[in-house]
Amino acid sequence: MNRVAVVGGGWAGLAAAVELAAHGEKVTVLEAARQLGGRARSVPWDGIRVDNGQHLFVGAYRETLRLMERVGSAHRLERRPLDLRVPAFRLRLPTLPAPWHLALGLLAAHGLGVGDKLRAAAFMQALKRQGFRLDRDLPAADLLARHRQSERLVDRLWAPICVAALNTPLEQASAQVFCNVLRDSLAGERADSDLLLNRGELDNLFPGPAAEFVRLAGGEVRRSCAVTAISRPGAGFHLAGADLDADRVILAVHPARLPALLTDLPELADVIRQVETYAWQPILTLWLRFAAPVALPFTMLGLGGGQSPWAFARDDLAPGLVAVVVSAEGPHLRRDPDALKKDYLALLAEAVGPLPPLLAWKRIVEKRATYACAPDLPRPDNATPLPGLYLAGDYTRGDYPATIEGAVRSGVQCARLILEKS
Ligand SMILES: Cc1cc2nc3c(=O)[nH]c(=O)nc-3n(C[C@H](O)[C@H](O)[C@H](O)COP(=O)(O)OP(=O)(O)OC[C@H]3O[C@@H](n4cnc5c(N)ncnc54)[C@H](O)[C@@H]3O)c2cc1C
Repeated sequence: MNRVAVVGGGWAGLAAAVELAAHGEKVTVLEAARQLGGRARSVPWDGIRVDNGQHLFVGAYRETLRLMERVGSAHRLERRPLDLRVPAFRLRLPTLPAPWHLALGLLAAHGLGVGDKLRAAAFMQALKRQGFRLDRDLPAADLLARHRQSERLVDRLWAPICVAALNTPLEQASAQVFCNVLRDSLAGERADSDLLLNRGELDNLFPGPAAEFVRLAGGEVRRSCAVTAISRPGAGFHLAGADLDADRVILAVHPARLPALLTDLPELADVIRQVETYAWQPILTLWLRFAAPVALPFTMLGLGGGQSPWAFARDDLAPGLVAVVVSAEGPHLRRDPDALKKDYLALLAEAVGPLPPLLAWKRIVEKRATYACAPDLPRPDNATPLPGLYLAGDYTRGDYPATIEGAVRSGVQCARLILEKS
């Protein structure tokens, strides 16, 4: 039996721990914060607990769904066929088998001319013919321009999808990762494009049930337990701060935290060099609590094209609660919070009509929400040059951008590498 330590109780670390625990390993999770979940967690506000930022799941998140089934929380996601609504545009995918769902959905889309629809279909066909692989990576904006996607098509369809998935403006985003996202969502099985909306607190969606699963399997989850350094005194590892020795370590921290933790391990110098080239992208969420429910025409509503905010009805957390979310960098971050709130209230009222009185509001900015998903970004492998030390997290090598599914897949992969060697 290995003694496996997982450093970091975000979704990657907890995914690794659940996978190991399910295969009989006694694992110890060490989490620096008082709570689990990392960048996808609940925070207390106004007598309730809201998400640190609205999280959206899609049907293609297969590993996430598998692990949620395992820990008994998958029922907390509400499945709906894709329905993208922004002012003057709507793409709704019918419940038909692939590829008819996309073909007919595009054909019936509101707010696009026939030429736009044909160009969008031709773009998807061209990507399909080349297996969604590009000869070389380039900015997503350049790929769309090469495929003669009109300004309206980009603004209403491609930019909202790219910015939501990659959290990076189109001009800076990796076209290859954008293609991967399109392959697994719009061009996947019909159910892959479904939206999965979390109902209830984010903590209860996976972090809490995952920790309970690990404990019931004989493992341990320590909170408020920051690892300060990792060394290799002999065959195994010593984790300073937690005062723990382990045969195997899965390091599942935010990539910005790696350099400080790896200073005593020269074998990891290349990994440090890679992550030190990363730039970060923020996500802003404005929580609005109204005196009565706001009738959004669909749970999720775009308030403009391009990189504009999206509104989410969150009556499941409290009646009259709405989250307004803006991905990636932009002038909204420099706007005075009170003025920004007024701007977004005006956009919301324009979309749904007069709003009930506002009781409370809160602005949350996650400055390092994700790495900027740039073309050819170097991403380290899960296995490192140091036997027994593994890296998990949304930044490790994989098809996905910085997302829950990317994080979960990386954790599961680390667990499998350890199990193969047991
Ligand atoms: C506001 C917001 C909205 C988002 N929206 C979406 C979305 O809609 N859909 C989607 O799929 N993804 C979304 N994401 C991205 C997603 O949340 C992340 O990709 C994912 O949560 C990353 O998980 P992780 O485990 O790799 O890293 P993290 O969540 O960063 O976990 C790392 C953990 O390690 C802990 N830690 C750090 N240092 C130490 C140490 N020294 N010792 C012990 N513990 C340590 C941290 O406290 C943290 O809990 C969003 C992110 C944000 C911030």
